Amino acid sequence: MQTKIMIKSFLVNLSLTMLKLLGAFFSNSKTLMGDAIHCLSDMATDIIGLIGSKLANKKPNETHPFGYGKIEYLTSTIVSIFIMSLGIGILYISFSGNLQITSAYALIIVILSIIIKFILSSYLLKKGKELNSNILITNGTESRYDSYCSVLALIFVSLSLLGSKNKLFLYADLLGGIVTCILTLKIGISLFLENINALLDEIDLDEEKINNIKTTITKFKKINEIKDIKLLKYGSYYNAQIELEIDGSITLNEIHKIKNKIKKELTKNNKELRYINIDTIPIN
Ligand SMILES: [Zn+2]
Repeated sequence: MQTKIMIKSFLVNLSLTMLKLLGAFFSNSKTLMGDAIHCLSDMATDIIGLIGSKLANKKPNETHPFGYGKIEYLTSTIVSIFIMSLGIGILYISFSGNLQITSAYALIIVILSIIIKFILSSYLLKKGKELNSNILITNGTESRYDSYCSVLALIFVSLSLLGSKNKLFLYADLLGGIVTCILTLKIGISLFLENINALLDEIDLDEEKINNIKTTITKFKKINEIKDIKLLKYGSYYNAQIELEIDGSITLNEIHKIKNKIKKELTKNNKELRYINIDTIPIN
């Protein structure tokens, strides 16, 4: 289901990119060319995102007992480098060649693009919430952001159309290209930093997630105190490291049983907690 929706989104983006590339070519609009190249980066995100989530689902084995969830960070880092290069490419195209009078075709295509991206993002966000899918929600949010970026492009294209009356307005087209470059670079850089950090074993500090785990554990009577909870990120799941202070008079056998019960209870409530390791410190 999720894959089908992603393919639909990809096909919409593909048609939109072709339309924008053709439009930019025939209307001489650098802003529209920048927008088209940005659309290319969205398609790369779609494809690599799909491949990444497929690879990340590979079953754990002897050498990778915690599975391959982190592959998602690696594929996203590769995508982010690609997006940054496209951002620089947009800048290069914006400054190459002379500024020319833009034709009104560009305006029609930008308006069409805003409408299509807005409808696509609403669809992706709705389906993402229904299916509880992170990939779809991320994609929907990104498409919504794109529709707003195209509104900016609309302003620059409209201004550059005035270039037939006053040459100064031609610079609006160049400015449109520069702004699209900055927006694209911003996405690439934040995606790069986010995924590099995750690759370097950054832990999740989400208070709600940690409090939910604490609430479940405090239901168990013989636990004295929860000393530490670390959520190691593995893409769509976690490896939780938990440290508990426990009554020292309890036998090893009993501790083993309590640990197993806690693990069962935690995984029952939270499918993201795929691996759990519990350490116990005895106190008198
Ligand atoms: Zn985008």
